[in-house]
Amino acid sequence: MKILPVVLETLSITRVGTTGVYFDYSSADLVTYKIPLQINDENYYIPAISATSFKGLLRSVYERYLRKEKSGNVSGSGNQKVLENIKNLNYEERTLIFENLKEELEKYVYSGLIDKVGENLEEVFKQYLEITGYGIDKACYVTSDLDRCENLALIEDEKKRKLKEAWIKLTGRKNLCEVCKVLGTSGVRGFVKFTDLVAVDPFPVLLERITHVAINRITGTAEKGKLFTEEIIPAGVKFLGFLAVLEDSLTERVIEMLKVLREKARKGEVWIGGRGSSGYGTFRLYIPGEVMEFNSVIFKGKFALNISEPREGLACERKIICKLFPETFINSLNPVTEGEVTFIVRVETGEEYEAKNGEELKEVLDKVKDKKYEIKTRGVWSLL
Ligand SMILES: [Zn+2]
Repeated sequence: MKILPVVLETLSITRVGTTGVYFDYSSADLVTYKIPLQINDENYYIPAISATSFKGLLRSVYERYLRKEKSGNVSGSGNQKVLENIKNLNYEERTLIFENLKEELEKYVYSGLIDKVGENLEEVFKQYLEITGYGIDKACYVTSDLDRCENLALIEDEKKRKLKEAWIKLTGRKNLCEVCKVLGTSGVRGFVKFTDLVAVDPFPVLLERITHVAINRITGTAEKGKLFTEEIIPAGVKFLGFLAVLEDSLTERVIEMLKVLREKARKGEVWIGGRGSSGYGTFRLYIPGEVMEFNSVIFKGKFALNISEPREGLACERKIICKLFPETFINSLNPVTEGEVTFIVRVETGEEYEAKNGEELKEVLDKVKDKKYEIKTRGVWSLL
């Protein structure tokens, strides 16, 4: 098992949903997810990003990446090969898939992505791939009944099972797609466990409340007396969480997922929580290989985020942070003292920079921030 620490820092105001345990007397109409924490007989409710939300975001971003970007677009790549799989289907399978794909595509007619649904299986499958991406052999869309991987052994309805079997034949998947193999799916256990991401810096976080006016959808004017308040997390809050990868050989794949998410977040293409289209929820993600500085009452200092085995250690002597996470996880955060570790920043275009401490590293990263780069460390906390 490998432990991977991650830190999500909000760059704009953020609202994350309330799934999970929630209890608060002074609540707003729309509240933020919080976890209870007891310190010296006092109860606190600490804002957090639920494990489910973070996992969902990571999955959806990576699904799209495999389906669309990594597989290139239609013309010019060899991906049209997948269309040839139609030949492997018998009459019954063709009919089943055609009926179901037509239904799936109707949704896209309503949203204006296509004008009308095609008239035969070749046409509709091509339409589907053009909208959802040609990397269909690599990733399913877990939100689609038709497309998502499922444990076939658990499907009781025979017609549904036949449809799924035909779908596997058509898409060229081997039972599970590359994402479900790692994260699991309906009836299949995944190999990655996620903790909640908890706001550790500043601590405690002062939540803000914003009052909105409800707008009448038809007249476009304010509805009399319809105000609602919303609890929001300010910008600049650092949420700490951990991923436990149960199968070591999958660690690299999980790191790739995190890198894709980090990159999308950097470009502002994804957000966490609600109201993303209004600019809420932009963030910066820090992943293993990077150094983080925390400066709050419960968590202070510079830490290298390292991939490690779960480790016992001294991290938890009387510390509040250990009420939030297992000690064996926290030990994947290694305190960095100046001079003991050298960071090497390698830019895509070939240049290399060396930094001897966190300050220098920050300067280097500022210099290369518009390019693609990777950071390696040399010294006590080798990440390789
Ligand atoms: Zn899948």
